[in-house]
Amino acid sequence: MTEWNKLIPKPRSRFFRVKCQKCGNEQLLYSNPVNKVTCNVCGETLAEPTGGKAKIKGEITTILE
Ligand SMILES: [Zn+2]
Repeated sequence: MTEWNKLIPKPRSRFFRVKCQKCGNEQLLYSNPVNKVTCNVCGETLAEPTGGKAKIKGEITTILE
């Protein structure tokens, strides 16, 4: 009954703190986002899903396990 459970892979996920190259805002984002992640301040794209690891557009300042 919980079909959706099978669709969620469980990789060793990580969180990144990424600095927006446009406005300098730092934001926490997931390494495997399902949706495009945009900057909370200026709306610049920070990461795009690629089916696996995200394509990070900004500068990664910290990696959190
Ligand atoms: Zn920004």
